[in-house]
Amino acid sequence: METIGIPRSVINEIIDHAKAGYPDEVCGIVAGKEFSSAHLYNMTNTENSRVSYFMDPGEQFQVMKDIRERKEKMLAIYHSHPDSVAFPSAKDVRLAYYPDSLYIIVSLAGDIPVLKAFSINEGEIVEISVKPL
Ligand SMILES: [Zn+2]
Repeated sequence: METIGIPRSVINEIIDHAKAGYPDEVCGIVAGKEFSSAHLYNMTNTENSRVSYFMDPGEQFQVMKDIRERKEKMLAIYHSHPDSVAFPSAKDVRLAYYPDSLYIIVSLAGDIPVLKAFSINEGEIVEISVKPL
C-alpha cells in the first residue's frame, strides 16, 4: 500500500473539526506544497447533514484562489462520517471530482476516531496508508 506522511497536528485538527461538528458531517481541504508541510482549510458543509457533505462553492472558490496564490496544491479533501466507517460512500465516489487529490475520511462511529485516506479515480477506490509524522 502506498503511504503518505501527515503531521500529527494536521491529523488532530481534522479529528477535532469532526468532533466539533458532530453529529453532522464536516468537510475541508488539506493544502500545501506536500503533505509533510500541509495545513487545513475548514469548510462549511452546506448540507448540514449526518450522512453527506457539500462544500460551499463560493468558499471553495476563494480557497482555491488562496492555494494558487500561495503556489500550493490541494492535496486532499477531508470529511467526517459521524456514524459510519471510514470508507467512501457511493455518493462520495460519485462526487469525487479530483483524481489528483486524496480523500480523507474520519469516522467517529467507534470508541476512537479512525482516519483513513483514499484515492478515488473513475470509481476505483484505493486506500493510502497514513503515517503520522
Ligand atoms: Zn462520506
